[in-house]
Amino acid sequence: MLLGAPGAGKGTYSNILAKRFGLPIVGTGDMIRAVIASGSDAGKRLAAYSDRGELVPDALVLELLEERLGRPDTANGFILDGFPRTVSQAEVLRRFAPLHLVVNIVLPDKHVIAKLLGRVGCSQCGGNYNVADVHDVEAGVYMPPMLPPGWVASELQCERGSVLTSRSDDTEDVISARLATYHKKTAPLIEYYRAQGILVDYRVQTGTGDMPHLESALRKLLPSA
Ligand code: AMP
Repeated sequence: MLLGAPGAGKGTYSNILAKRFGLPIVGTGDMIRAVIASGSDAGKRLAAYSDRGELVPDALVLELLEERLGRPDTANGFILDGFPRTVSQAEVLRRFAPLHLVVNIVLPDKHVIAKLLGRVGCSQCGGNYNVADVHDVEAGVYMPPMLPPGWVASELQCERGSVLTSRSDDTEDVISARLATYHKKTAPLIEYYRAQGILVDYRVQTGTGDMPHLESALRKLLPSA
């Protein structure tokens, strides 16, 4: 499971790790966005929470998770991204799918905010990019922008020419609410999993440039990887 503030890089890392380890990603944020995009009544209820940067009620997210984990592709393992987000969710998960490893992705809030404000994606090809240029010598963080090939600064387009857009919850107000929610409700999971002896801290330095190091650290920790 990847733990960390919104914008710390859980989605980017889990996409790369999923390919390297041949595991599916179970990402509750993506599942919730898909329900919202469907325009159903359930989607409208979920949007009311996510638009405010709040967590959706456990019953709704657990229903989605249960359905997803019931599919056969998760039988040999999976990468959890965005779940659990509270100790009570972790307690439920522990009963039906105990975790082997929790990677706590650490990135200072000011860089998280810059990355969230710079995040853009393509609704056509699903590509995710980031125009933020984060450089903090003191914290040892250097994350250059992640841009599509052939990027032209004046045109926010992916390599196939589709317009890149920001997520509706990546605005300053909603980001600050999401970060407050993270610190209050999700960060306690760091000590919860540390006490179980299954948590490793991973300090972000160069974003995707960290991948080889992160991957080799994980291969040592996951016995069957
Ligand atoms: P994410 O893409 O992981 O940042 O999630 C986007 C939004 O979906 C969050 O701000 C929450 O409103 C909702 N969400 C995602 N995962 C959960 C979860 N495990 N529990 C409750 N709400 C969630």
